[in-house]
Amino acid sequence: MTLLIEGCAIATVDAAGTEHASGHLVVDGAWITAVGPGRAPDVPGAARVDGRGCLATPGLVNCHHHLYQWITRGAAQQAKLFEWLVELYPVWAGLDAELEHDAARAALAALALSGCTTASDHHYLFPRRGGDLLAAEVAAAREVGVRFHPCRGSMDLGRSRGGLPPDEVVEDRDEILAATEVAIDRHHDASPDSMVRIAVAPCSPFSVTEDLLRESAALARRRGVRLHTHLAETLDEDAFCRERFRRTPVEYLDDLGWLADDVWLAHCVHVDAPAVRRLGDTGTGVAHCPSSNARLGAGIAPAADLLAAGAPVGLGVDGAASNEAGQLMPEVRQALLFARLRGGPSALTARQALSMATIEGARCLGRQAELGSLEPGKLADVALWRLDGLGHADVADPVAALVLGPPAPLELLLVGGRTVVERGALRTAPEAEIAARARAASRRLMAGART
Ligand SMILES: [Zn+2]
Repeated sequence: MTLLIEGCAIATVDAAGTEHASGHLVVDGAWITAVGPGRAPDVPGAARVDGRGCLATPGLVNCHHHLYQWITRGAAQQAKLFEWLVELYPVWAGLDAELEHDAARAALAALALSGCTTASDHHYLFPRRGGDLLAAEVAAAREVGVRFHPCRGSMDLGRSRGGLPPDEVVEDRDEILAATEVAIDRHHDASPDSMVRIAVAPCSPFSVTEDLLRESAALARRRGVRLHTHLAETLDEDAFCRERFRRTPVEYLDDLGWLADDVWLAHCVHVDAPAVRRLGDTGTGVAHCPSSNARLGAGIAPAADLLAAGAPVGLGVDGAASNEAGQLMPEVRQALLFARLRGGPSALTARQALSMATIEGARCLGRQAELGSLEPGKLADVALWRLDGLGHADVADPVAALVLGPPAPLELLLVGGRTVVERGALRTAPEAEIAARARAASRRLMAGART
């Protein structure tokens, strides 16, 4: 099956920054076979998409999320991170596989509707009688049709041993490592067109033991999968690490052998200049989550400095309980604005911001060979944005219109050549039913927490 998209502006986000004012894309099955200016070549029997008035970009890559939090949105509205966690841990203790599925499906649908074609999830909470939560979210991603990188997360440092989470939501270290191996065996697909890849992801320095961090890294490297965790999100975390480990969060992870190009870290808000250099030198990726950091008043990550240092910097919406919107394209605008609040109007361009949501995100997830730009030989993960309406039509530069303007209508979203969103509607799953089930799931989880 061949699909020709033509008449649209194209921002390829390739290494040369190639753009076409009016161009075409040829999609053959799951792959892009041609990108260029002007009309598409004639291919007998091919389907054609009229892209006039639109801009084609690579599908967006979300590098950090907690999908389950979709059904606990709107809680702890004035809290900072540690207060917010302490309020929500007991609610999350009631999670089960059915709730996880319904929450994940809603959060992934919201991501797809905002242009996301590849989503990572960091799931670190596995209640003892909750069932197979990881399998539930993998099923949800298959239903929505997005490429999925679930991280088998974990917590083993409960309150009784000096950690932040209550003991009832942490697991035993050996059980965690065994369950992580099972997750890799069962779900990880290393092939280039993979729809599911597992990463290993102990939660954070204040909820995980040093032994688990070290053994998680060893396991990930033995199995050839990527490593992920939260780091340097708040000043409270910085104080925790200095007091408990006599080091900054980045020094702590560095000493545990974590910093390398097979790792990406969520946040990195509170990192000094030597830490930025070290992250860049080691090629350690960063998932920048500007809205969540603002929602919790955590601070503004030095995303432009990290990019300049050579670190891959992708974008994440972060968990839906600290970013109720859960949409990825608005994070591109947010990242640009925040970079400029830190470093002035030349700190980050609209094109750099778009690259963070595409090729930089693909680098964070180790998928830059097949995702993150529109080039022949890459997977046909494509977003087609409508820019001929009130919000954008008079802006001559389509990339500026998309990044700086209001959220653009999503004309078409392809994942591996398959239509997931068309004219702003989800084509793979029933949106109204997803919303209804998420509402029921939220009520059940919240009611359980009150009893
Ligand atoms: Zn997070």
